[in-house]
Amino acid sequence: MFFGCCILKSGKEREEVEEKLKRITGKLIREHSLEEEEYRYLIDHREDARDPLAREARRVTEQIYGDEIFVRGLIEFTNICRNDCLYCGIRNSNENVERYRLTEKQILDCCAEGYELGYRTFVLQGGEDGYFSDEVLVPLIRKIRREYPECAITLSIGERERASYQALFDAGADRYLLRHETADEGHYRKLHPEGMSFRHRMNCLRELREIGYAVGAGFMVGSPFQTSRELAEDLKFIETFRPEMCGIGPFIPHRDTPFRNEPAGTLELTCFLLSVIRLAWPSVLLPATTALGTIDPRGREKGVLSGANVVMPNLSPTEVRRNYELYNDKICMGDESAQCRSCLDMRMRTVGRRVVTNRGDLRRTPREEMNEEESRGRNGTE
Ligand code: SF4
Repeated sequence: MFFGCCILKSGKEREEVEEKLKRITGKLIREHSLEEEEYRYLIDHREDARDPLAREARRVTEQIYGDEIFVRGLIEFTNICRNDCLYCGIRNSNENVERYRLTEKQILDCCAEGYELGYRTFVLQGGEDGYFSDEVLVPLIRKIRREYPECAITLSIGERERASYQALFDAGADRYLLRHETADEGHYRKLHPEGMSFRHRMNCLRELREIGYAVGAGFMVGSPFQTSRELAEDLKFIETFRPEMCGIGPFIPHRDTPFRNEPAGTLELTCFLLSVIRLAWPSVLLPATTALGTIDPRGREKGVLSGANVVMPNLSPTEVRRNYELYNDKICMGDESAQCRSCLDMRMRTVGRRVVTNRGDLRRTPREEMNEEESRGRNGTE
């Protein structure tokens, strides 16, 4: 079928690899599931599987979402964070960052501008900033919910207590993004300081789902110490946990972090993994991330051609954007929100896609609906 050349010692070995790849990719396309070992093999031998899988991922995306691209208006409302994740440019111990918090009025102004521009999802993203307690956030979320009843409100504000997640949900938030960063506990410990807990983070994701949020997980591609083994664990986690959204982007080092000299992740591997994720969990909402656009001028378009169907332009006031630099050289730092929107419209048109004005909810395939019902029945929730 589609496997060309592999750099191998003998023709026989090459044939064996081709056969195995054929079997694994066929299984992924048919069953949307692989063993961890198979994911690993696919990553390690991806050269000849890349293009056919991207084609198949595009076909599956178009089958479910047509030519539609969903947009989320990103409001980075605080860059203050109590944590010290080793890869993050706004980590607590970075003294070179000018810290800011948007006021409630500034946040509401961003929503108003976003609504005018056609956004029907607002993503409130920030560090773990103790100032934004439930007492501050609940009234804010209620206001946004009242003002924009047809819009989705997504939160991306890190780890909190279950009761807090519940209070924010009851106030009107309906989605929550919490990248798991890595599904391997040992790897997690190498990316985070003592005191941050892999289990707590994973438990947060489970609690968010139990409460009723549409959940977004995700991980960095090419983060320090990551091998195909860790990536295979990430893929298996996404396949089985089935977050409604999965944000993956290349790791990009920041000059003020301990990982400043580490190499960045690649566009090639990120795009390949986007295709694999689309095939492992076909309905997933899959953003072509800003990080992808940062390492390649057409990174987001290439992400879409690999199976992505969401973009997340920035709605934050331009004067604070440069202070929300999670990694160096982040794009769109100075562009007005309207510029970002029209730039993305144009970019998506170049790859045959159309940015649409709606909430952009997940659309399950009939087969996924059936599996879901079966699993609810098995768990006795019906
Ligand atoms: S990654 Fe998130 S939690 Fe970690 S330091 Fe950065 S903003 Fe804080």
